[in-house]
Amino acid sequence: MSRTFVTRFAPSPTGYLHRGHAFSALTAHDAARAADGRFILRIEDIDRTRCRPEYEAAVYEDLAWLGLRWETPVRRQSEHMADYARALRELAERGLLYRCFRTRREIAEEIERAPHGAMEVFRGAPLPADEEERRVEAGEPFAWRLSLDAAERALGGFGALTFVEEGEGPAGERGVLPARPELGGDVVLARKDVGVAYHLAVVVDDALQEITHVIRGQDLFEATHVQRLLQALLALPTPVYRHHRLLAGPDGRRFAKRDRAETLRELRAGGVSPADLRREMGL
Ligand code: GLU
Repeated sequence: MSRTFVTRFAPSPTGYLHRGHAFSALTAHDAARAADGRFILRIEDIDRTRCRPEYEAAVYEDLAWLGLRWETPVRRQSEHMADYARALRELAERGLLYRCFRTRREIAEEIERAPHGAMEVFRGAPLPADEEERRVEAGEPFAWRLSLDAAERALGGFGALTFVEEGEGPAGERGVLPARPELGGDVVLARKDVGVAYHLAVVVDDALQEITHVIRGQDLFEATHVQRLLQALLALPTPVYRHHRLLAGPDGRRFAKRDRAETLRELRAGGVSPADLRREMGL
């Protein structure tokens, strides 16, 4: 078995899988097969408030129904919080993070007041040390944010940050692409209720699991720019990326959990077969 191609499907068990998930999982699985490589399933369940055991059980059931096989044991992020805490601490100790006490609502209001209309991303700065200390001592909740300014200083600019896109970004981007972490702003890397945020857990795990190819939807293209920066800051290897097109529903809009897109379980109950799904998806 070749060790030079390792890919993963990394669902968050916050709902039942739908067609879009099936497309990602099948695309990654088929690519691993074609390359005589490895296919890994990872359960991204760090947000305990949104994940449920029945959704996780359904992930295994639905993927097996699709005909996929994956390596076991499956890595469940909730069982490895210490790994992410270590990475977070390293970034904090190097002065790359700052505490942000703003509520989500305050941030939204600030973005609205921004001079150039709706700024999409948040850029902030650490508070003066005495104020920060006072608020921490008062027990005010805060989030840890990555400081793009500090990151830029640490790396001497973002100019050398690139990644290889073997699939296609939403605007057809492919080849060696410059990473633009500013697309994400000062991303939150940890909150009080969730000890670590998505971006950090993903880069730690992709490195630990020696993922060589990240195959996922174009909806995560911006995330790649942020994750590329985290890889550089943590001296982790950068996989090759293959972003794939997003499936559109009959009305031309993309399938998403929040739209109550038909779940794989509903399709299965309605008599749809995995072969039907593959045909419909052009796989
Ligand atoms: N867990 C993420 C999601 O379900 C995907 C992470 C990834 O593929 O990097 O949207």
